[in-house]
Amino acid sequence: MNLKTLFLTNNDCFKSGKRHTVKGIMVHSTGATNPWLKRYVGPDDGLLGPNPYNNHWNTPKPGGRSVCVHAFIGKLQDGSIATYQTLPWDMVGWHSGSGSLGSAKNANNNGYIGFEICEDDLTDASYFNKVYTEAVELCAYLCKKFNLDPLADGVLICHSEGNKRGIASNHADVMHWFPRHGKNMDMFRAAVKAEMAKNDAPAQAGHPIIGKPTAYYVQTGAYSNKANADTQYYKVKAAGYDAIIKQSGGLFRVQVGAFSVKQNAENLAAKLKTAGFETYITTTGGTQVAPGPEPKQPAAKPVKVGSEVKIKPAPRNTPLARPFLDGLRTKPTLFHRYQVTGFFWVQMAGSVAGYI
Ligand SMILES: [Zn+2]
Repeated sequence: MNLKTLFLTNNDCFKSGKRHTVKGIMVHSTGATNPWLKRYVGPDDGLLGPNPYNNHWNTPKPGGRSVCVHAFIGKLQDGSIATYQTLPWDMVGWHSGSGSLGSAKNANNNGYIGFEICEDDLTDASYFNKVYTEAVELCAYLCKKFNLDPLADGVLICHSEGNKRGIASNHADVMHWFPRHGKNMDMFRAAVKAEMAKNDAPAQAGHPIIGKPTAYYVQTGAYSNKANADTQYYKVKAAGYDAIIKQSGGLFRVQVGAFSVKQNAENLAAKLKTAGFETYITTTGGTQVAPGPEPKQPAAKPVKVGSEVKIKPAPRNTPLARPFLDGLRTKPTLFHRYQVTGFFWVQMAGSVAGYI
């Protein structure tokens, strides 16, 4: 899957900002001979290519209609296939129209993510196979993300199936197209299920999100030195939190989560504070950068009789063992050099300095 993100922030649907709990996915195809994403997604981000008519859907009412979907699958300027996410998945889309059960029961209000596959003239098997595969991967990604079973009744359906269920308007998509290339929705659902069984990491959006609503990032440190950010990153990971490093404004920021609701960011920040991390919330994101390799703990040299060791001067009858040995490794400049002289202990200035 080649997933990008460009939210249609000028669309009235996006502006209405209504949220839903995702319960299913509705597959659409555009019903127009135009496989280019730039017809629907804009402005040009350098990959889509320019739309000279400027008639994409990043406008209040595309073509005078109140419509918006969560994603489009089609061609980039260079002819390759991509998916563009155009609404947050948990935002209500305007894609199903109304079915026989009435608008209150339409797919939008039932929590369906809706995406469009851009149609060509419906005859090109090569284009069909590419966008079909992309759609399978997108649905597998979404089913995993929202814990959906694509084979369960009414979960993964196309627009025409939605119409039969009374939750979508009377459109034929995608069953006017798929069968021309030997596919149907049962095969599609099975393919999604099979794709989910693969262990691939879900594909990530490949470029910075354009038009993203305000996000609250939970940050545990910002460093001008990347190595310091790496160190913090691994500390946070070791404590059981997922972290990423982002670069912006000359700083490497170690961030643990991003939320559109500030309270959720505050909840996570509180947890991290309890776990001992300096934490604050910022709206500054940045470009994600890869952490450096995980630092290896230096291997402790085995100490035995005859080894030369450095020992910190210690008062007589010092309590012994671990703190002493840890000190041996971390502050060698404070130590005097001695030879291990006996079984499991070290003699120093006539007193026992530590057992080894
Ligand atoms: Zn449709």
